[in-house]
Amino acid sequence: MKKNEIIKIYGTDYTAMTVRLLKAAGLADHIRQKAGPEKDPLIGIKPNLVSPVPAMYGATTHPEIVEGIILYLKENGYQKIMICEGSWVGDKTEDAFEYCGFCSLADRYGITLLDTQKDTSFSVKGGNLSLKICSCVRQIDFLINVPVLKGHCQTHVTCALKNMKGLIPNSEKRRFHALGLHDPIAALNSCIHQDFIVVDNICGDPDFEDGGNPLVQNNILAALDPVLTDAYACRVLDRPQEKVRYIGLSEAFGIGSADLTKLVLTSLDPSGSPSRFEAAFPSPAADSCAFLTHKAMELNYATEEIQSCSACYSALTDALNRLDQEGLLKILTERLHVRFCIGQGYKGLSSPELSRLSPEDLPVGIGNCTCAFTKNIPGCPPSGDAIYEYLKALI
Ligand code: SF4
Repeated sequence: MKKNEIIKIYGTDYTAMTVRLLKAAGLADHIRQKAGPEKDPLIGIKPNLVSPVPAMYGATTHPEIVEGIILYLKENGYQKIMICEGSWVGDKTEDAFEYCGFCSLADRYGITLLDTQKDTSFSVKGGNLSLKICSCVRQIDFLINVPVLKGHCQTHVTCALKNMKGLIPNSEKRRFHALGLHDPIAALNSCIHQDFIVVDNICGDPDFEDGGNPLVQNNILAALDPVLTDAYACRVLDRPQEKVRYIGLSEAFGIGSADLTKLVLTSLDPSGSPSRFEAAFPSPAADSCAFLTHKAMELNYATEEIQSCSACYSALTDALNRLDQEGLLKILTERLHVRFCIGQGYKGLSSPELSRLSPEDLPVGIGNCTCAFTKNIPGCPPSGDAIYEYLKALI
């Protein structure tokens, strides 16, 4: 396949679909081109296992897709395969490997699982930033990225480019959030080349990276260009591409093209034959989720966020969702004027210093970064339960 192509397959037998998709995309040719015909390359597979939540909830990569990739690779003579991932700050990758079905997958096929939270790292320069990257990236000869196409409460969309964040140490993940995510994500992608992309668009949550509201789409995509893939993801999720700044920044780094007018989109029928060539880009109605509400954003109308980590923001959103369902969120925000302050930008600030809030507002600090607040919920990150109980007790 060419760099301006995306190939798509629909169905419910995810393992068989993946094998057919990879045959149509000629993955083995791409590996041979990069590694050379003689070499037995180490192939790295990078899923998205943000937290220990099974794929059916819309946050993590389906193990069936990774199984399809492994079967295809073995059929083509590739035996050195490693699955590498690091969950977000606050969760352990080993739990995610276990609960998401990757331990049994690794046992079944004799595959190495590498927890990047425990890996060493090296420093590189990406644009103006000095970045730390996990050492496994240097060992891998060919990297297959397997992101989930889903929404994100801070960057709006997460797919191929942002999934590389699992290949940096936890301390660096925190720093990325402090830097506003977009610039460091683009810089990171200028340092890590993803050789092939298999997108899990089976039931990604269009709203939120930690899942909970999966939207069944039952398709898997193959692509070579992560910038084009993410531009297409914006279209699928009906988010303006300009809002996902790391796409344009990555394009400026020369990582790929976000020009969807050049996209050649091919759909395969379930047998793997091209059934539909979509030379022109499909209309938004055909592929978009425009009808969806952006629930995480709606719930966080009273949240004052400055550089928060995803796990912290996710825990808060989970608590707000529960309070909303019980009719308590409006009591907190409208009657008590509670404002939820979250993020690394509040470090060292106490609540009276918050000039952005009005005098009648009652700031509640979420997490250790707001430990100087009069009202603070400790933890790094605090659990959704702890936030929920604390806020409920205010009423
Ligand atoms: S308290 Fe929350 S925002 Fe602060 S470092 Fe911990 S997880 Fe990140």
